[in-house]
Amino acid sequence: MDSLETELDRARELDVGELADAIEAIGFECTRCGACCKSEDGCGDGSSTDESDPEPHTATVFPDEIRRLQEAGDYDFRDVARPMPYGIEATPDGPQGETFEWALQTDACGDCTFYEETDGTGACTVHEDRPLICETYPFSVALGGTSQPMGEAVDTEGMVRAHECEGLGRDISRDDAEDLAAALKERAVRELQEAIGVRENYEPTDVEGVVVHDSEGQKRPDGTEL
Ligand code: SF4
Ligand code: SF4
Repeated sequence: MDSLETELDRARELDVGELADAIEAIGFECTRCGACCKSEDGCGDGSSTDESDPEPHTATVFPDEIRRLQEAGDYDFRDVARPMPYGIEATPDGPQGETFEWALQTDACGDCTFYEETDGTGACTVHEDRPLICETYPFSVALGGTSQPMGEAVDTEGMVRAHECEGLGRDISRDDAEDLAAALKERAVRELQEAIGVRENYEPTDVEGVVVHDSEGQKRPDGTEL
């Protein structure tokens, strides 16, 4: 793979008009089905917490996005984010391991903590402050070092990839396509900046429990610095 710096240069050079053309060609309108906000095997309608161990929803959230969400709702850090579980193991002494990202916090059903559902229609309670990964779902760009949500792409047009979503293939206005394209470019740049920051600030640690290495350094699961 090319270096992260090369990919960052490519991300900065992405043409928003061309990305918008690709989004228009693929087509998209959110149906508010909530699939990108929920655990795949959680409590179903979001009203019950009787599933014993759902596989939680995972969506990457950057450190500055966590702070913005905290400020928006006067939330504690752990109300908003949790260590991305990849690299963390359950042990008799509790969770142990290193991880390199934060994920949006989840509820007892494994759904995003900010997700609400009424009569089968989903809503995001932090819509104006939702992270870039949510603002740009179901799209990603074909650059190394950027995230590819929900598995393999189901459609591709130029540099744009589309992922599993029932709203794909629907008409989208040019204005909406351009707004989405601009956010998609911003996300690609931010993801690569974050990846470079994680690499540059990485320091081995020798502590019990969970350590999150993000672009700002080494942190405990509650977001405080080690
Ligand atoms: S999966 Fe697609 S249609 Fe469903 S809520 Fe997410 S973006 Fe909207
Ligand atoms: S922050 Fe909002 S859009 Fe993002 S996963 Fe949670 S409920 Fe869905």
